Amino acid sequence: MPASIARSIAKDRRPPPAGTTSASQYVNQWTEAEALGDERVRAFVLILRTRGCYWADLKGCSMCGYAKDTLGRSATPGELAQQLDSALRVYQGEPYVKIYTSGSFLDDREVDAGSRQRIVERFAARARRLLFETLPEFATGTALEPLRSAFPGELEVALGLESTQPEVLLRYVSKNSPPEAYLEAADRIRRTGLRAKGYLLLKPPYLTEREAIEDVVTSVRIAAPHFDALSINPVHIQNGTVVEWLYHRGRYRPPWLWSLTEVMRRSAAHRGTSRLMTFPTAGGLARGPHNCGSCDRRFMAALEEASLSQQFEVLSDVSCSCGAEWRTHNLLEPLGVEA
Ligand code: SF4
Ligand SMILES: [Zn+2]
Repeated sequence: MPASIARSIAKDRRPPPAGTTSASQYVNQWTEAEALGDERVRAFVLILRTRGCYWADLKGCSMCGYAKDTLGRSATPGELAQQLDSALRVYQGEPYVKIYTSGSFLDDREVDAGSRQRIVERFAARARRLLFETLPEFATGTALEPLRSAFPGELEVALGLESTQPEVLLRYVSKNSPPEAYLEAADRIRRTGLRAKGYLLLKPPYLTEREAIEDVVTSVRIAAPHFDALSINPVHIQNGTVVEWLYHRGRYRPPWLWSLTEVMRRSAAHRGTSRLMTFPTAGGLARGPHNCGSCDRRFMAALEEASLSQQFEVLSDVSCSCGAEWRTHNLLEPLGVEA
C-alpha cells in the first residue's frame, strides 16, 4: 500500500473536536465472562471517551479503528468524572473491572493523573481486580505507584504487544515501539507489584495464515516469562483501517478459528505460569475470525471454555469438514495475497 494512502486513512478517522454533551458520555459498557484464578466471575468493561491514542494521530496501527470513538480533544477532569458517575450507576459490584480508553489510560493527555486516581479509588472498595491498558512508554513508576497505593486489590496493566518479532510489529502492525519496549515495560510493571497482561495479534496484514500462526506461537514462547497473562486477539476488520482497505480489495481474510485453535493448543505447552486466553471480537462473522459458518459456534465455545478453565484438551475435540478447506487455504493463500 502506498504510504500516502496509509496517511490519509489515519487522518480521516479522527473526528472533529466534540462538544460537552458527548464528552460526558462514555463510549460503551458491558459485562463479560472472566476468571479470577479458578473462580468464574463477571467482568465489568468500560470504555472511556478521551482524546484517544496519540500514535493514531501520527501514523496509527494497521488494524486499529478506535480513533472514531475519541473526542478530538482532551476530556476535562469534570467530563471524565461525569463519565465515571454514569458508569457507576450501572456497576453491579462485578469483582473484575476493565477500563479502556481508545488509547492509553496512563497518558496524561487522555486521562490526567488526578482523574486516574479518582477512578481507581471509586472501584477500590468493590472490585478485586482492576485492569487498564497503556502504551509501554507511559508505564513508569511515577504513574503506577500512586495507583497501586490507592487500590487494595490487584491492578493489572495491559500492553498491546501484538508480536515479539520486530518486523511484524513495526512494519506490518505499524506500532511505534519495538517488542523490547513492551517486554521491559511488563518487567517494570511486575517489579512495581502489579500484574502484566499482554495482547498478541493473530494475523496482522501481509502475513499468510500459516505465517500468522507461527508468529503468535513464537510470540507466546518469548513473551510468557514477562507476563502474568497473555490474550490472543485475532484481527477483526475495523472501520477506517489499513486492514479494511485491503479487505475490500480481496487482499485480506480474517483468520480462521481453526488457526486460533491451533495457536492456543500449541502455545499451551510453553505458556509457563502465564494464563493463556482468547475472547475473539466478532467471532463467526465475516469481518471477524471465522470458519465455514456451521461450526463457528462450537469452536467459539471451546475457545472460551479453554480460556476460562485453562484446560486446553477441549480444543482437540472440535472438528468440522471445513478443516480440509482451511488446510488448502494455508497452502494457497500466498498466491492470492499481495505482500
Ligand atoms: S492499536 Fe493501540 S497504539 Fe495502535 S493506534 Fe490503536 S490505540 Fe494506538
Ligand atoms: Zn466448519
